[in-house]
Amino acid sequence: MAVKKKRKSPVTESEIITLTNVSKAYSTGAPALKDVNLRISRGEFVFIVGDSGSGKSTLIKLLLRELTVSSGYINVMGYDLSKIKHRKIPKFRRNLGIVFQDFRLLKDRNVYENVAFAQRIIQKSNKEIKKNVPSILAIVGLAGKYKAKPRQLSGGEQQRVALARALVNQPTILLADEPTGNLDPKNSWEIMKLLEQINENGTTVIVVTHNREIVNAMQKRVVTLRRGVIISDEEKGGYIDED
Ligand code: ADP
Ligand code: MG
Repeated sequence: MAVKKKRKSPVTESEIITLTNVSKAYSTGAPALKDVNLRISRGEFVFIVGDSGSGKSTLIKLLLRELTVSSGYINVMGYDLSKIKHRKIPKFRRNLGIVFQDFRLLKDRNVYENVAFAQRIIQKSNKEIKKNVPSILAIVGLAGKYKAKPRQLSGGEQQRVALARALVNQPTILLADEPTGNLDPKNSWEIMKLLEQINENGTTVIVVTHNREIVNAMQKRVVTLRRGVIISDEEKGGYIDED
């Protein structure tokens, strides 16, 4: 019997990330996040900005369930992250793509293998890998470089490999923690434009950055943290001067 497929809208208004009264304290020092409330809808593009030490990476790690809250609740894609069972965490993370400032590529593997690795972890068949990896490398502009090792690539190219690796499993949410922190302005813009394109194709994108010029130019939602507190959350926002 033919089953009618539900029409999938690429962008719905439903909430995909909800933080309710979230605080996070490490064993030493002042709390890294204090009573944070944040709601992000499916398909949004959000910049997280703030001085060094303001809690941005802590927020990203909580969303990945690398850390757990000290108090409050986090729900990501319907998963209550305080209650999620350890054995369910890998399945949860399959829906997340992550990019870091320092690329974190496998140094002894070539570009193709670095991206294919992400597919092997989720047990994709070789046939699918052979289709998906070249297609994602083409999207990030690295079609001609699949045999290169990371050390043979520029910083911008390495970050594009990392981005391809984050995207090849088609994540629902892409998290990027200072993805342009090690890049020059031209490569920074190229990475941000790719992130914007990925978002336009329906992926929810959250980008931690210090890049004032890019934040001001892109006119996206901007959440500003200061000493663990959200001090501003604006649609089409800009970089708030801390001085
Ligand atoms: P940001 O990414 O905005 O620079 P972080 O989230 O890394 O900020 O850090 C927020 C605060 O938490 C800082 O004061 C930092 O020193 C502290 N912190 C971060 N990680 C740890 C840790 N593993 N142990 C203790 N304190 C930490
Ligand atoms: Mg950080």
